[in-house]
Parts: sequence; C-alpha cells; structure tokens
Amino acid sequence: MTEIYAIYGASGCGRSLMPVAREQLERDNIQAEIYFIDDSLTEKITINGHVALNYEAFKELKADKKFALIAIANSQIREKIAIKLEQDAIERWTVQADNVVLMDEVEISPGAALSPFVTITSNIKIGKCFHANLYSYVEHDCVIGDYVTFAPGVKCNGNIHIEDHAYIGTGAVIKQGTPDKPLVIGKGAVVGMGAVVTKSVPPGVTVVGNPARILEKNKFLKF
Ligand code: UDP
Repeated sequence: MTEIYAIYGASGCGRSLMPVAREQLERDNIQAEIYFIDDSLTEKITINGHVALNYEAFKELKADKKFALIAIANSQIREKIAIKLEQDAIERWTVQADNVVLMDEVEISPGAALSPFVTITSNIKIGKCFHANLYSYVEHDCVIGDYVTFAPGVKCNGNIHIEDHAYIGTGAVIKQGTPDKPLVIGKGAVVGMGAVVTKSVPPGVTVVGNPARILEKNKFLKF
C-alpha cells in the first residue's frame, strides 16, 4: 500500500512544521514522501528539499492513502481546508516533535501540530486541528475547542476552557481557573502578545496588556 503525506501551506507555519513532520514519520517508522501543498503555486517546485504543488496537482498523485497536516495559522482557513480534505477522503494528520511531553489522559483530535518543546500535562481534551507553537504549554484539566491556535510560548494554566477558533498570542499568560469555575476564553477571541489574562474573555473580542483588557476602537481618536 502506498501512502503519501503533505504539509498544507508552504509559508512560515508550513516550513517550520515540515521538520516536525519528518520527525513524526521517522518515529512511526514510515518511509514516505512528504509534499508541500500550496494553492499559490502554478507549477511544481522544490521548497526546502520537498516537492511543492497546488491542491489540484496533489489530488492527482497516485496513492492508496493520503494524509495532510494543515499548517496555516489562520483558523478560518484551517477549517475551510479541513472540510475540503474530508470531502476528498484525505486524512487529517497529527504531527508532534520528538521532545513534546504528553502526560496522562490527554485526548487530542486529529490534525494537530505540536511544535518542539510543547508540554501538555494531564486530563486534557483538545479539539480538531490544534496548533501549539514552540514552547507553549497546556496545564491540567483544560478543555480546548476546535481550530484553536497558540503562538510560541503560550502559558495556559490549569482549569482553563478555550473555545473554538480562539487565537492566543506569543508569550501570553492565562491565569488558572478552578474545577467549579474554569477561566473561559470565548469563541474566536484573540489574546494579544504578552497579555496577562486574569479573568474570562468574552467571545469575539481582543484583549491586550497586563492585566488583559478588551481592546476597543476609539471612535474619537484620529490618526
Ligand atoms: N494557502 C493555501 N490555500 C488557501 C489559503 C492559504 O495554500 O486556501 C497558503 C498561502 O498561499 C500561503 C499559506 O497558505 O502560502 C499561508 O501563509 P501565511 O504566511 O499567510 O501564514 P502562516 O504560514 O503564518 O500560517
């Protein structure tokens, strides 16, 4: 049976995750080609030693089974591509670096990308296509929804719930919740780089600063 693998997205995120994907295949003892898929390509080229082509060309490749990791930070695009892959019977692929630490009772849905130095401790549930970038951690009893994105160095402490499509910026620190009252980051919320989040964040808003506050556009301010 022939299997082929792909990293979907050949920009920054994809090129950072390709070496992680190679580690994954090596650990699984699978010898197979890993392609880049990128829809901006009009012809087959080579990127960092891998064949790169657009999705239509990837679909035409002959194989019994195809797997793809969507390596694009924008969660809306990830969801759109995930739906397309499912329709085309291309399996979502989870990749993790060799030095990722996963402790007890960690449940991660397919399509995750766990970069080097990520730690996920115990009793944690994570939804589809999660991205945890370099040095991020998720502490005990967290529940993370679908298409959630962590930039590098996110400190997600215990008893935190993060809803679908939330984006947590580089180095943000989120205060732990309690078992009866988890701290909740609402659906589609954005936590700015370096923010210190001390209380729940409503859906759809952006918070910044220490302590993190909702960023509101000032109608009276002219630039
Ligand atoms: N892209 C794609 N298909 C899509 C949307 C995006 O192949 O439907 C590619 C796009 O051409 C680009 C990459 O995904 O190369 C996204 O790169 P970007 O620099 O925006 O973000 P990052 O790599 O940081 O996620």
